[in-house]
Amino acid sequence: MVAGVLVEITNKNVDRIFEYNVPSTLEENVKIGVRVLVPFGKMMLEGFVCTLSDKKETDKELKEVDSIIDTDIVLNDELLNLGKWMQKETVASLMSCYQVMLPKALKAKNGSVVSIRYDTYYKLKNDSIMSEQFSGKQKEIVLLLKEKGLVLRKELFDISSSSLNTLLKHGVLEKIEKEHYRVSYESGKIEKKELTTMQKEAVDAVINSSPKTFLLHGVTGSGKTEVYMEIIDYYLKLGKKSIVLVPEISLTPQMVDRFRRRFGDKIAALHSALSDGEKYDEWRRICRGEASIVIGARSAIFAPLDDIGIIIIDEEHSDSYKQSDPSPRYHARDVAIYRAKTHNCSVVLGSATPSLESMARVQKRVYEYLSLPERINGKSLPEVTIIDMNNAMKKSRGHFSNELISAIDDRLQKKEQVILLLNRRGYSSFVMCKNCGYTFKCPNCDITLTYHKTSNTLRCHYCGYGDKEPSICPSCGEKSLNNLGVGTEKIEEELQKLFPSSKILRMDYDTTSRKGMHEEMISKFKNHEYDILLGTQMVAKGLDFSLVTLVGVINADTSLNIPDFRSSENTFSLLSQVAGRSGRAEKIGSVVIQTYNPDHYSISYVKNHNYFGFYKREMEIRKQLKYPPYYYLCNLRVCGKNQEYLLGEALKIKRSLERNLDSVMILGPSVGNTFKINNTYHYNIILKYKNKDVLYDIFEKIIEHYKTNIKIKIDIDFNPSQIL
Ligand code: ADP
Ligand code: ZN
Repeated sequence: MVAGVLVEITNKNVDRIFEYNVPSTLEENVKIGVRVLVPFGKMMLEGFVCTLSDKKETDKELKEVDSIIDTDIVLNDELLNLGKWMQKETVASLMSCYQVMLPKALKAKNGSVVSIRYDTYYKLKNDSIMSEQFSGKQKEIVLLLKEKGLVLRKELFDISSSSLNTLLKHGVLEKIEKEHYRVSYESGKIEKKELTTMQKEAVDAVINSSPKTFLLHGVTGSGKTEVYMEIIDYYLKLGKKSIVLVPEISLTPQMVDRFRRRFGDKIAALHSALSDGEKYDEWRRICRGEASIVIGARSAIFAPLDDIGIIIIDEEHSDSYKQSDPSPRYHARDVAIYRAKTHNCSVVLGSATPSLESMARVQKRVYEYLSLPERINGKSLPEVTIIDMNNAMKKSRGHFSNELISAIDDRLQKKEQVILLLNRRGYSSFVMCKNCGYTFKCPNCDITLTYHKTSNTLRCHYCGYGDKEPSICPSCGEKSLNNLGVGTEKIEEELQKLFPSSKILRMDYDTTSRKGMHEEMISKFKNHEYDILLGTQMVAKGLDFSLVTLVGVINADTSLNIPDFRSSENTFSLLSQVAGRSGRAEKIGSVVIQTYNPDHYSISYVKNHNYFGFYKREMEIRKQLKYPPYYYLCNLRVCGKNQEYLLGEALKIKRSLERNLDSVMILGPSVGNTFKINNTYHYNIILKYKNKDVLYDIFEKIIEHYKTNIKIKIDIDFNPSQIL
């Protein structure tokens, strides 16, 4: 038998199918869709079996398939087809499209895969064995197994291995190894709320409709999650399965918890807080049809479920659904809609602040609009106060306005809780010499280093580079280094001085890097072991704490100052989301937003929770500047180590694009604010277009042209979430 195996030629994103002989020992298990190891040059490479036939096509001598990586088929027909579609859509290699569908744990390094765990059981080989034939310990074992049938080795803790082995040797016992999953669930308790009329209407609209895409626009605390669960339950009862995507599940453990309480062991969760082994086990449960509801981050959209009834994407505006790097640069929303067509099912996109793209599709009647405009039980949305820091800083020192200080003070006295957002970790954002103006930059990246006080280091947030902060300026030798800007570490210090007896919990990338830390922090805050939760955008999403009645934003401008066409949209949605954490239970909540741009529309519209006001204003700007959703964007990135050569080639590419595309606007080549990362330079060529089809031919030619050129790498990113 001859297998056509898809292997990736490393780095270049080029794939080819090579033929290999299948040795007779493997013939039974080599199937289309399994992964194999094959010799390639001097290496062993992983590949997918794509074809099987009786004879080879080339006249060359074929090498043999070395081994099979997994015993089960890892990609079924649907996923094999989906991969081909993604390859076309994203101009990526087919191999990378298949690899992205599999959990990381399955990505073999030299063929070694995360191990499967087994439990050992014992049972009698033959029921008619009489216990009278035995005495002592042996009799005890036989009697026990006669009574219980199959028994876990662990339950035989007082019995030595030698007694068991003797009985095994004499053919009395049988030893059985069964797979053991590392994640365990209780069977669901079916916790369920009586839905409000509005919630019911939303549920009915979805389940009574022919397959389509819905946009569920519900304010924070309007009960979207209950709506999702009810829809899922409906399909579950029909024997159908569901996928629920959440932005980054380790950021929303409360959501998984609610699903677990309602659906118990019917769910499988795929998220970054799991170990590789746990992920592998969850994925196998899905493959085997042992889980009906998959909840996970972006890549969970590839869950190998058959018969999907509904796909739900919560916080659909989140840019975490777009994979930026490496390729395939896909958007989970597009994949969801494609899979939904295959399964003939609907997609529900939920958000309090829908992306402009999705709302525009509602207006064009591509998506159907569903709305939950009020919080549950008529609770009002929190009152938002905007503080102009240009004035406030004249009266106060540090980073807190008097208004925010007295609001925090008030909540602490009432024994209520506070969430504070500052979207920048570290102590200060940069260090500058007062004497000569020198700033520290990463030697690998073209990025300012951030000072971290706890470790007394300057660190790069792009590549992780770190160095001790020197005491004198390396440029002029003066002792005048100054910390400027502010990060979560410094705010924590200031806060502790302002409120010495309060308990403060800081939650950011640095404090949550250890496994389980994030969940632990959330449950401690929920139990009121802390008064104030201070953090980066991690604290903004999906959290539901009933005692939180004040949300403060230290500096609303951090996300506004990012040079990206989406920065206003991102600012509006981040502020609306974090504001939504306040006053979710009986007590009315309030929000204090500190900003140096109080009149900026992405901040002022948050005050009245006016999504449509913001939407209208931002759409006008996008129209003027020819940005999405009026035009599509594509970023063609040229990367390499030699800057001069790279620029030359980038200009050539631009000219050839111009010659071949007349209805497309072509900008650049330009350097973004991450011109150099890890010693690699980047030039962006931005294309604005209405029709994607015209691009493919010329893109393919460009990729083909540079395929064997090691000095230059071409990355193509359709609908980039950010242009850096
Ligand atoms: P969202 O996801 O829209 O922010 P949630 O689904 O988290 O809203 O609901 C907000 C709060 O209201 C939660 O504490 C939830 O348990 C509660 N809730 C939701 N639906 C109902 C309902 N029908 N009856 C009572 N409480 C509800
Ligand atoms: Zn760096």
